[in-house]
Amino acid sequence: MEQTKLKIEIIENITHDVLRIITEKPKHINFIPGQAAEISINKNVWEDEKRAFTFTSLPGNDYLEFTIKAYPSRNGVTKELLQLKKNDELILHDIFGSITYKDEGVFIAGGAGVTPFISIFRQLQLKNKIGNNKLIFANKTSADVIHEEMFKDLLGKNFINILSEEKKDGYAHGHINEEFLKTNIADLDTQIYLCGPDPMMVGIERQLKNLGGGKLIIKEKF
Ligand SMILES: Cc1cc2nc3c(=O)[nH]c(=O)nc-3n(C[C@H](O)[C@H](O)[C@H](O)COP(=O)(O)OP(=O)(O)OC[C@H]3O[C@@H](n4cnc5c(N)ncnc54)[C@H](O)[C@@H]3O)c2cc1C
Repeated sequence: MEQTKLKIEIIENITHDVLRIITEKPKHINFIPGQAAEISINKNVWEDEKRAFTFTSLPGNDYLEFTIKAYPSRNGVTKELLQLKKNDELILHDIFGSITYKDEGVFIAGGAGVTPFISIFRQLQLKNKIGNNKLIFANKTSADVIHEEMFKDLLGKNFINILSEEKKDGYAHGHINEEFLKTNIADLDTQIYLCGPDPMMVGIERQLKNLGGGKLIIKEKF
């Protein structure tokens, strides 16, 4: 696919390490909620350093939004993104991604793995179809939870948080395990959407299978 330059309109922090980047939306750019794009920075030596980032805006919005966890300790693209400001440019390459909405089910995300679900839940809200969808969101601490208020408003009791490095009222503590899955997923044969770091994904898939479920999994490794 040809490269498209995207001028940054807004770049700001939405948590201590997560950036929200709003860019203009060229008319020919189209995507399905849950999909991502290969993105690089339009700056000397960075043009060919492509990384995958998910669209967190909706196809109908007249802007594009990306929600990006930055790793200042790695000498990579996300560290460089921290230097950018309004009117700097990103380059959009291919659009791809295996997560799209199919049926009502349980979404399980680890950290920035929630990004495909942001656009999907925004789309479901727009269509008034949030229904009984559930989000299980695993993070290290409560400060890491992306769009906590939005998910609380959208999902109410169907928004479940689990923190591995903080004990806090209203949040489960520890890592997701079989007991936790059994308690929080009423029907293990429901549609599961899974996105996060590799070890978390491998662990959860194994746990679901051990419990006799996990036959319908739509997933993307971050
Ligand atoms: C389809 C898809 C969609 C995605 N969407 C999003 C999104 O919307 N938002 C988001 O935040 N992320 C998203 N990701 C993840 C995102 O692509 C990576 O976090 C990003 O590529 C990191 O880029 P980076 O250049 O900063 O670091 P990297 O390219 O990961 O690393 C740069 C260098 O740091 C070193 N390094 C790598 N890993 C580690 C480590 N664990 N510890 C220490 N050093 C390390 C290596 O030397 C490496 O060369 C998505 C991933 C996929 C596959």
